[in-house]
Amino acid sequence: MAAALESLMSDYRMAIVPVTQFQQNCTLLWHVESKRCLIVDPGGEVGRILDVVVQQELQVETILLTHGHLDHAGGAEATRGTINEDYAKRGWDLVPILGPDERDAFLLRGIEAQCRQIGLEGMRNVVPDRYLTEGETIDTIGLSFEVLHCPGHTPGHVVFVEKQARIALVGDVLFRGSVGRTDFPYGDQAAMIHAIKTKLLPLGDDIRFMCGHGPASSFGVERQSNPFLQG
Ligand SMILES: [Zn+2]
Repeated sequence: MAAALESLMSDYRMAIVPVTQFQQNCTLLWHVESKRCLIVDPGGEVGRILDVVVQQELQVETILLTHGHLDHAGGAEATRGTINEDYAKRGWDLVPILGPDERDAFLLRGIEAQCRQIGLEGMRNVVPDRYLTEGETIDTIGLSFEVLHCPGHTPGHVVFVEKQARIALVGDVLFRGSVGRTDFPYGDQAAMIHAIKTKLLPLGDDIRFMCGHGPASSFGVERQSNPFLQG
């Protein structure tokens, strides 16, 4: 089993591009041979994200958003727009933005207003091609990601889990040694911890995850040592 998993992920490469002053981990995941690529949370500094696409000669297939915060979604509109202008000329399939859950629509609509408040420039509001719901599966770049609604950091936060490859993209729900902030008017720490304990950790200790900030980890390491998940 372990060997099969290793061989599946050995067909893929990943690049993390920390973007914005919040050092948000925009993640690019691609199939080495076909170059089919997935971009998760292109929050800003779109030029640096597209540099990877150009340098690695990737063909972007899907843009996924975990939630509506500006450091995760503020560059999504420009990423989709720039890529699709190019792909339309080539006659290639256009790239959709999928996610998060619709309960984050108010955040995606408010990115520009929020940026003005904190003096940030260059980010744009975004309307996804489609919102996602708990339990659906996204088939892209030869992988199958299950969508789990994990609210609390934001009302519409979703997590993407690839059960065969044993990887998850968890956004700002879970970090190495920490969990997402919930000190927003719409935050709900109890709901977030409940989602981590009932939806994520039961998937298995061996699942490795990439998160919105800081280093990657695994569900097992966090289950055993994350101070927010004890008791
Ligand atoms: Zn966030």
